[in-house]
Amino acid sequence: CFCKLKGRIDDCSCNVDTVDHFNNMKIFPRLRSLLSKDYFRFYKVNLKRECPFWTDDSRCAIRYCHVQACQEEDIPPGLKQYNPNPMNSLFGNQDMSLRVIHFYDGNEDCEDPENDHDEELGFINTTISAAAYEEFEKWQAHDALDNFCEVDEDKDAQYVDLLLNPERYTGYKGKSAHRIWNSIYKENCFRPENHYDLFIQTNQLNRMCLEKRVFYRVISGMHASINIHLCSKYLLSEKESLIAPSGKWGPNLEEFKRRFSPLTTDNEGPHWLRNLYFIYLLELRALAKAAPYLANEEFYTGSDEDDRDVRHAVKEFLSVVRSFPNHFDESCMFNGGAQARKLKEEFRQHFRNISVIMDCVGCDKCKLWGKLQVQGLGAALKILFSGKFDSLSPPGIEPGQKAKSQFQLQRGEIVTLFNAFGRLSNSINELESFRKILRE
Ligand code: FAD
Repeated sequence: CFCKLKGRIDDCSCNVDTVDHFNNMKIFPRLRSLLSKDYFRFYKVNLKRECPFWTDDSRCAIRYCHVQACQEEDIPPGLKQYNPNPMNSLFGNQDMSLRVIHFYDGNEDCEDPENDHDEELGFINTTISAAAYEEFEKWQAHDALDNFCEVDEDKDAQYVDLLLNPERYTGYKGKSAHRIWNSIYKENCFRPENHYDLFIQTNQLNRMCLEKRVFYRVISGMHASINIHLCSKYLLSEKESLIAPSGKWGPNLEEFKRRFSPLTTDNEGPHWLRNLYFIYLLELRALAKAAPYLANEEFYTGSDEDDRDVRHAVKEFLSVVRSFPNHFDESCMFNGGAQARKLKEEFRQHFRNISVIMDCVGCDKCKLWGKLQVQGLGAALKILFSGKFDSLSPPGIEPGQKAKSQFQLQRGEIVTLFNAFGRLSNSINELESFRKILRE
């Protein structure tokens, strides 16, 4: 079967079989359970941002592109009060009486300062807050320099329940979808010198340095993952009804073969699948690297019991992540003085552009998952290459004791990091299902 890949994953010292076994037996089941928890399932995103690159592409009216909104009462109270800003970030505490209100960001979900009846506390908070806010702004401006993505925590951002809006076939295709992929590959991926074709053939990749190959491989791996999801949750049949039309979703082997078989893709399909394994290893390594930091996160939603369960499950999951025998080695990238620094900056700029292109996706459901996966990958790149996670304390630090890191990840970054990795883990697991169907 063309989708039973063998041997070493390009640019890594690890075999496909090792990843298949590790993912399907150890990672996938744990992650599936973890991502159904409230902390991870509610993702704050702005789907209304204007596309800054072109305006002649209307938003798509395909029924299956619709994103179902969240009911206010479904959002955990701790998240509604959550402010990505100062108190949480500077002091790392979860004391709701201190998590004020005075940073009202225009979001209806925030509490209104007018309703803060404890005047004395309100006064203290205001004074702490003003100083904290100023400090925070400085910190944020500085920290943003290390971001690989545009962050979506503005007033138009809304919570979306990811479990209500699964990634699957939507029917988004044609000119609009191609314009996105084309501008990602053509304008925002590195290319070998004198290469004018739209898409890069895998055998051309060795004409580029490791860093540029890595860039291409992670984008191609993410593209493969998106397309695997639409094949494994394809619209198989529809029931028309005026009240609630419904669809039946399941694997479509023909669609999968069309997209990945060497016969229909000029031999490229299996390479794209290998790139899926590549991006998986890169994000796995980011999780392992940030593990001492993540193991001390509060995962606050306002429910003591749920939050305790999540902290426990995350720690267990991270210890499995760290046990992987053959992690991707990011230390061999961006070495070599000024030239390497310049390359890293280009790498970051290209990736930021791709995060902005996500605002041009013409199907809301695809945009939702596209943004989530790009932001999660951006968080992984930040962990691997910003240098700020390089000196984390070793694992096993006492609970409650913060890992020594010069900065912290915001909730949105943690949610997208885990969910993006969840998509890749799911894709690798789906490959096994396709192999089974093919064998049968
Ligand atoms: P496309 O997938 O559009 O690919 C265009 C060209 O890119 C191909 O002809 C091939 O030459 C090359 N290519 C294909 N795969 C790879 C790869 N892995 N690496 C390198 N090159 C490659 N559709 C849904 O149904 N559900 C979704 O959730 C969804 N999410 C999307 C999210 C984003 C951000 C985008 C841009 C599109 C999304 N789509 C989604 C659309 C989907 O990805 C395809 O674009 C669409 O199905 C049309 O497919 P296609 O066969 O024309 O090839």
